[in-house]
Amino acid sequence: MEVSAEEEINQIKMGKPHVVILGAGASYAAFPDGDKNGRKLPLMKNFIETLGLEELITRTGLNFPSSNFENIYSLIYEDSKLLDIREELEAIVYGYFRNMELPDEPTLYDHLVLSLRNKDFIATFNWDPFLIQAIRRNGAKFKLPRVLFLHGNVEVGYCVDGHVMGNNGGFCRHCGNILTPKKLLYPIGEKNYHLDEFISRQWATLEDVLKHAFMVTIFGYGAPTSDASAIKLLKNAWGNINNRSMEEFEIIDTREEDDLRETWSPFIHTHHYRVENSFYNSWIANHPRRTGEAYLNQFYEAMFIENNPLPKKAGFQELWEWYNKLQEIEVAVQMANS
Ligand SMILES: [Zn+2]
Repeated sequence: MEVSAEEEINQIKMGKPHVVILGAGASYAAFPDGDKNGRKLPLMKNFIETLGLEELITRTGLNFPSSNFENIYSLIYEDSKLLDIREELEAIVYGYFRNMELPDEPTLYDHLVLSLRNKDFIATFNWDPFLIQAIRRNGAKFKLPRVLFLHGNVEVGYCVDGHVMGNNGGFCRHCGNILTPKKLLYPIGEKNYHLDEFISRQWATLEDVLKHAFMVTIFGYGAPTSDASAIKLLKNAWGNINNRSMEEFEIIDTREEDDLRETWSPFIHTHHYRVENSFYNSWIANHPRRTGEAYLNQFYEAMFIENNPLPKKAGFQELWEWYNKLQEIEVAVQMANS
């Protein structure tokens, strides 16, 4: 008994969200050679060299026990004499990510946002602007997933009176305030997400949608031990694994599976998880806009399911035509049900 790609495309059955969580590894996987202008994506362990911060770090006169950027930043933060250096550092980091740009051709980020529906969520730890840029250039034609920024983001501004979030530098539609950028860097010892109103709202939403999710995909997020509060928040939101025995947990990561299993064991029920080393092997890339239907067919109907891989090499015109066939069915089903 098999469900063909054609049959899958014609089904719209899932109302629950697929939640995707992105870490630095996702942007690195998308752009291993850098962004449109060759600007390299840093990881926490090579952050200093990638951004060229060595001289600034030397000027602090401190000795750092590790090369992990978050640890280094925390130590600088704790020393009030280093305020000027800290502010300079924050400005450089902000500027580095602010100037990043998606290449002109379709990228992994375009494929990712086009492959999920409006009921779905992408929550990112990344400061880079790629997710927003991908939403912007595909969003006029497609209903896309909603996004959450768990550590702030260079493209996002926020009304200081708490009304809205929107494009950095835009205006609040309630009060006319200029939407101001959020701080990107927090000392890890004090990474208390609840203290920042914008960030805490993002986490509260994630917590709520995780309770209802049928599937979670963790893409390139290393879950650093330095960020214990993030893991704790995710764990609380996910709840007891014994109550989530039917939900699927997918990890896209290049690390060894044993490593990953250990990191994510509080989230993984014995059977329902899988590890892929490439986004293009994932549920999302093989069942675009139908991950929920594929999941129901496989786990509830016990059917074999045929893959419907997204056209990875297509230019925008062809890509949009391909996804539009999927969206047309979504629209038709919605009209029939309303
Ligand atoms: Zn306002």
